[in-house]
Amino acid sequence: MKKTIIKKTQRLKSKAIAITVDHFQNINMEQVISWFTHEFKWAMARILFLIYGLLAMLTFGLTAYLTAPIGSKLFFKTWAFWPYVKYYHRIVLQSYRVLWMMCKDWKYKFLFAIPLTSEPRRSPDRTFIALSGNWIHEENTCYGCVRCCDKISCPLLNKKEGICVGYNSFYWNYFLCGCYPFTQQQIDYYGCEKWKIKYQPLN
Ligand code: SF4
Ligand code: SF4
Repeated sequence: MKKTIIKKTQRLKSKAIAITVDHFQNINMEQVISWFTHEFKWAMARILFLIYGLLAMLTFGLTAYLTAPIGSKLFFKTWAFWPYVKYYHRIVLQSYRVLWMMCKDWKYKFLFAIPLTSEPRRSPDRTFIALSGNWIHEENTCYGCVRCCDKISCPLLNKKEGICVGYNSFYWNYFLCGCYPFTQQQIDYYGCEKWKIKYQPLN
């Protein structure tokens, strides 16, 4: 009996190895190049950004000020950092706040739902996100609502004019804002009336 089980296990293992080898053999050069120029590139960009952010946090913002043009490019789309220096300490403080929110509120874990290799976005993926039935306005506007930005007291929100000063920046496109929403939990967390999830491929 024991021998039969061992034989069966070995056969299954060999089959799994054969399928894996077959899978890799079927990958062509175009797919490899595409992976390096898309998924790999996006993941590296995110990882480098996170390292940059971590360094700024560990040095209480010092590295962010020393590399001000880079921070400006990442958050405000321009190397000309001087109009934006006033935001730097707020962004560093916000990074501590976000870390704190992640530690104390388990609901905020959706922060990790965006895969590192996912495409940067400027709008939700409409294959699995739809406008909520309650939303009577145009798709490309939040009609003065800033609830999600307000809820996390985002320092990039210009409350007076109701605009995001980091709109369409690297940070915006690669992280939570441009990709929003991607989970129902995230929509519920913000109490957003605009979007709903058709189905959730990430879960
Ligand atoms: S959209 Fe802009 S203001 Fe709102 S959370 Fe994102 S970065 Fe902050
Ligand atoms: S909560 Fe929804 S409707 Fe309000 S600003 Fe955020 S995305 Fe727009």
